[in-house]
Amino acid sequence: MNVKRTYGLTTAILHSDREKPIEHGALHKPIHAGVAFGYRDARDLAQVFQGKQAGFRYGRQGNPTVGALEDKINTLEQGAGTVCFATGMAAIAAVATALLRRGDHVVASAYLFGNTHSLWESMAGKGIDVDFVDTTRASAVEQALRPATRLVFTETIANPRTQVADLARIGALCNERGILYAVDNTMTSACLFQPRNAGAGLVVNSLTKYYAGHGNALGGSVTDTGLFDWRGFPNLGEPSKNGPASGWGLAQLRAKGLRDFGAALGPEAAHHIAVGMETIALRIARQCANARALASMLAADPRVKAVYYPGLATHSQHALAAQLFADFGALLSFELDEGIDCFDYINRLRLGVAASNLGDTRTLVIPVAHTIFYEVGAQRRAAMGIAEGLIRVSVGIEDTSDLVNDFQAALAD
Ligand SMILES: *Cc1c(COP(=O)(O)O)cnc(C)c1O
Repeated sequence: MNVKRTYGLTTAILHSDREKPIEHGALHKPIHAGVAFGYRDARDLAQVFQGKQAGFRYGRQGNPTVGALEDKINTLEQGAGTVCFATGMAAIAAVATALLRRGDHVVASAYLFGNTHSLWESMAGKGIDVDFVDTTRASAVEQALRPATRLVFTETIANPRTQVADLARIGALCNERGILYAVDNTMTSACLFQPRNAGAGLVVNSLTKYYAGHGNALGGSVTDTGLFDWRGFPNLGEPSKNGPASGWGLAQLRAKGLRDFGAALGPEAAHHIAVGMETIALRIARQCANARALASMLAADPRVKAVYYPGLATHSQHALAAQLFADFGALLSFELDEGIDCFDYINRLRLGVAASNLGDTRTLVIPVAHTIFYEVGAQRRAAMGIAEGLIRVSVGIEDTSDLVNDFQAALAD
């Protein structure tokens, strides 16, 4: 049964585990807690170590439960292969450290997730040049390219101001120049957007967010879409070039990124993420509908100064978002009128929970400048368009009217 070709996204996820025989006919891939894998014939163990036979060696480098999750994500992201990590940051750090070396140049989005921005700044201190550019314009990316550019890295919808990257045009540019193009698809997930269709060679996901979906597991992944030609990539070691060229990048990510840095996804977290994924399409449909309703209510209220949501016709990249994505996502941010304090407003909410994280089933609200973007300082916040009173909302799956009423009632003090 090849569920990838025949069925839709939810059907494919639900029946993916049954593509391979599961112990006792269990409908979920079991949680394999074992770290070591025994072989009757020691020669088989050697074959596995030499990459000549499929199999597991040691928990840090792969696990059957994690492997089943990798297959699911790979199906969703139309990949040639996927490798999972302990967190989304571990997945991004693996791309940065396993595939780049001193003297390389990276073009990254100026609107990255805060910790990703911080990671690229650390890499800059280790001899990798990084330019942060406005990826809503492919021309800004083009102007930043140099002969030493090895990677272009962007997100789909930026958090918290919801800028939308010009994903397909950047992809065309990278493919024309033979540059590796990595897209962090966390904000959209494969439900709303498949970066492979925009020419991405690598797709990064924080599984912690929409994939797991319930705020109960950390995880990350890198998918190789098969579009990038690794034969022209100068940073691969000989051991990574064992099999066909299409697998070279992922082989190096698995060895240098996962094995050597050691941020392996645990089997229990993999199980939570796999169960969460079964309802991703249902959750995201509801979350997008709720976000749209909430954004419309806020935009129509005179006590709200600005609303940032790609689904609003007033959003700078509304047309681009409509072209690229199946829906406009479930994250929005807004600024209140001068007279309303953002802390007081959040404290008046009964359903919106003051909490970090996003992609949870519950609606989560955070005063951006005072929390997740506190460390970067006022100057960079201003440059990123983050007002001191900006409130970010990760919209959950609550009943729509309850949510809209809650956010409206809190406007009155
Ligand atoms: C949360 C997030 C990450 C990091 O993922 P973790 O699983 O928290 O490490 C990376 N990119 C984006 C866009 C995110 O929202």
